[in-house]
Amino acid sequence: MHILIVGIKASGKGTQARQIAEELNVPHISSGDLLREIDKTSPLGKEVRSYIDKGNYIPDKLILKIVSQRLAEDDCQKGVVFDGFPRTLVQAKAFDKSYKFDKVIFIDISKKNALHRIAGRWTCSNEHCNISYNILTTPKPQKPGICDECGSKLFQREDETKEAALKRINTDLKEMNPMLEFYEKQRIVIKINGEQSIQDVHAEIVQKLCLH
Ligand code: AMP
Repeated sequence: MHILIVGIKASGKGTQARQIAEELNVPHISSGDLLREIDKTSPLGKEVRSYIDKGNYIPDKLILKIVSQRLAEDDCQKGVVFDGFPRTLVQAKAFDKSYKFDKVIFIDISKKNALHRIAGRWTCSNEHCNISYNILTTPKPQKPGICDECGSKLFQREDETKEAALKRINTDLKEMNPMLEFYEKQRIVIKINGEQSIQDVHAEIVQKLCLH
């Protein structure tokens, strides 16, 4: 199955994409993770970081190239759960020429709720762990400022300051709607209420995809 998960920043799309990919036994391709994995000290890594840290999108051509390279790998042939790519109408139209989604899952949450979630978000500073916590919602770390899994310090990501997050969410909203309209014409969009617990969002996706 070829699936795209769409949602504004902090909608929970990453968490849901990982769970659905596991359930379907296909790879989870997160464009944000692919970008963050690029060596920060390389010229490409520095260029990519300069966009991300300010809450800006990477140029369409560049992200298309990076995702296409990952997609050419053997494990992607029987299906993929895409998370964060495509995220503009330009990207969707370009990608549609060579790749068709079976379903597009739209995780719907309000801007207010997204900003509240981001304000409480702390991430593990260990690059190999990278787990996110939320001190205002869940999951909360057991010891404040310390990762439950590896004991490293938690920090607030530069792209998750109030200013960068607001800019990113406004861009997400502007870009997402025309892209969703494009997929709605293909009758493949499933809308999910993202303002529920992680388990309930997952259950709604499973039910609407008829997985069980
Ligand atoms: P995410 O992990 O989805 O929050 O993505 C982190 C950052 O990576 C975003 O703020 C963008 O700067 C960049 N990014 C990820 N996916 C895309 C995309 N499809 N198009 C442009 N920029 C992207």
